[in-house]
Amino acid sequence: MKINVLAFGAHPDDVELGAGGILATHAMRGLTTGIVDLSRGEMGTRGTPELRDEEAKDAAAILGCSVRLNLEMPDGRIDYSHESQLQVVRVLRKYQPDIVLMNAPTDRHPDHGRASRLVEEACFLSGLHKIVIKDGDTVLEPSAPLPCWINTKPINSNATIRYATINTSCNILASLICRLANS
Ligand SMILES: [Zn+2]
Repeated sequence: MKINVLAFGAHPDDVELGAGGILATHAMRGLTTGIVDLSRGEMGTRGTPELRDEEAKDAAAILGCSVRLNLEMPDGRIDYSHESQLQVVRVLRKYQPDIVLMNAPTDRHPDHGRASRLVEEACFLSGLHKIVIKDGDTVLEPSAPLPCWINTKPINSNATIRYATINTSCNILASLICRLANS
């Protein structure tokens, strides 16, 4: 399945907070969208990986995402080794995105910068034909998506996107409040 806009985050919630409105807007326009969490956020002070899994599933449904994956890299120790790059390349080739969203290159959390470098380099490597990756007997075709940062200085003043971000964030917040109220 082709995913037009595929967003990667170091931790579950990075994408919702940084690009939830962008994904919702594109989904509403009929494009396919997806989220790939690199880790389960198991080092987070609040919550548990299991709770984050549930919240991630709820958020993906609210945002209209077709795919949500977790690569289960170690939270706090995300790296940009070749092995990690190939994990990301496999996803890129499987879903053939046009645009890839990713963490900002510099940030307070060290995972974010490393995740940014990891995904950006994987976007380049994914286009190299001599890197061969198979899914069973099928060779996954190279792809060269356009990488874009999230959670950085605004580069687009499109009011619709900002409005959708606010609306979608409110929806996610409402979902979390309901969950807390029922727990
Ligand atoms: Zn994060």
